[in-house]
Amino acid sequence: MRILVVEDEQSLARLLKRGLENEGYVVDLAFDGQAGQQRIELHYRDYDTIILDLMLPKRTGAEVCKNVRKSGITTPILILTAKSEVESKVTLLDSGCDDYMIKPFVFSELFARIRALTRRPESLLPSELKIGDLVLDLNTQKFKVDNKEIGLTLKEFRLLEYFMRRPDKLVKRVDLTDNIWDFNYDSFSNSLEVYVFRLRKKIGKSKTGVVLETVRGTGYRLKTK
Ligand code: CA
Repeated sequence: MRILVVEDEQSLARLLKRGLENEGYVVDLAFDGQAGQQRIELHYRDYDTIILDLMLPKRTGAEVCKNVRKSGITTPILILTAKSEVESKVTLLDSGCDDYMIKPFVFSELFARIRALTRRPESLLPSELKIGDLVLDLNTQKFKVDNKEIGLTLKEFRLLEYFMRRPDKLVKRVDLTDNIWDFNYDSFSNSLEVYVFRLRKKIGKSKTGVVLETVRGTGYRLKTK
């Protein structure tokens, strides 16, 4: 799936690109409203979703959205807006966007919104991740180890999904803090350890020997044998 991100803050644009690419999306960037609108008008068939910042140079996200809707383009659009701009909620929804998110936001929530916007018939989506006797159902969020269901919190689920998509690969702490938590990850750096500890206990019931190991000073690895 391909996503267009129109965002003038370069660092945020690149962070979004990296985060979305890690989730398996192909991402193109545009840095102002005019360039964004041009790209949408010419290439909208290439995109499954468009993420538009509200405050953009040359043309606001709401204007871009309104204009492309006027030309009959129905590609799902999600608008990003700062907290101080929330009063423009009505403007946003009038613009014809499908959803909006307030900055700063948590990546996992953005991913969930994108999944909702791009929802395809279930049969086309891989709905289960399997590693040894670990089975994670991505639709129902149910987790089974050795055929027994184990409860997960939403954050544990996101964390486990991230690990299970990368079996036997080194997952750096910074990847987790960038992609799963939010931009102010300092406040989460301790709780990451706590979540990993809890997840490790839950995975510990594996009979096929799957373990979540710590790679000293770097991160973690979901080891399958
Ligand atoms: Ca902006």
